[in-house]
Amino acid sequence: MSPADRSRGESRGAQHEAAPANAPQFLPWQLDTARAWLGQRDRFAHAWLVHGLAGIGKLDFAVAAAASLLCETPRDGLACGHCAACAWFASGNHPDLRRIRPEAVALEEGAAQAEAAEEAEPATAASKRAPSKEIRIDQIRALESWFNTATHRGGWRVALLYPAQALNVISANALLKVLEEPPPHTVFLLVADAPDRLLPTLVSRCRRLPLPAPDADTALRWLREQNVEPARDWLAAAGGAPLAALRMAQGGQAPCPPWLSQLLEPLAQGQAPDVGGMAESLEKAPPAEWIDALQRLFTDLMLAAAGQPPRYFPGLAGLTGKVGTRMNAARAAEAARWLTRQRALASHPLNGKLFAHAALQRVVLSCQA
Ligand SMILES: [Zn+2]
Repeated sequence: MSPADRSRGESRGAQHEAAPANAPQFLPWQLDTARAWLGQRDRFAHAWLVHGLAGIGKLDFAVAAAASLLCETPRDGLACGHCAACAWFASGNHPDLRRIRPEAVALEEGAAQAEAAEEAEPATAASKRAPSKEIRIDQIRALESWFNTATHRGGWRVALLYPAQALNVISANALLKVLEEPPPHTVFLLVADAPDRLLPTLVSRCRRLPLPAPDADTALRWLREQNVEPARDWLAAAGGAPLAALRMAQGGQAPCPPWLSQLLEPLAQGQAPDVGGMAESLEKAPPAEWIDALQRLFTDLMLAAAGQPPRYFPGLAGLTGKVGTRMNAARAAEAARWLTRQRALASHPLNGKLFAHAALQRVVLSCQA
């Protein structure tokens, strides 16, 4: 390891010190993978499937990778942040980069970056209906004219497609046709949480690039750099995925929702909680949010029943310990399965308060001895 490598390794916790001003950065736990992978760019595959757990920064990796591939004077394989290509990338209009993502994702990223989605369909038509959550076939077809244009100074062309599970069967097949006869100088970066939810023939056309999840210390150091406190509670609440923890913290929730302790405190003393009052506060939140919290609570309760420390809500360890050891294991398992089924339906329109009431009642019944 050279002194330069060593100093970079040590500065991973404070990546901004060594970071060039104008290039997207790999996350600290991605640097080793990125260097090894970008080091083989002479014999680079034309399509990569970047996959790994949700919330570990796969898109950050793919964006930094795209910048590195497009950079004219990369340093150690990574984008320099100073050349013309890096400046274009930073301003969001590098001609050799395309982002292919659902309209809804583009809108979330901000109007400034939504131009790619609008190219495929004029804003007037798009504004008449809800933004699409799928990657549509016209977005894949729109790439054709781009493939026929020469790249800037003969460099790479990078198509960044995310999340790959947003491809529907038709657009996935269109992409498959493209990958069967790949255009020259073009690299596809597909980002996905779970490759097994993609069209197998599409996956077979891609080289896989599994991304690692960070260890707890690295994740905590990074979260503290992002001013997320208490970092340990947020990281636990997100199941160890630091980007998910950051999003939750920025979303203004508490790492451990207060209603969870309101639910557990009476149960720990063998009393019945005020389900009606809690249902009223839950009905205002998206069902997916509080069902997630209840599912995590059940994981912690079952761990407690097995004499294990909590995974998601360390702040509630005392309460989950008491409730977990006295609950009825069979009824708890049934309630957990019920929650999983409801989670799949959580985006459907339903009576929020009734639904919250029913869910809480089940949880309470399963937690009583
Ligand atoms: Zn550069």
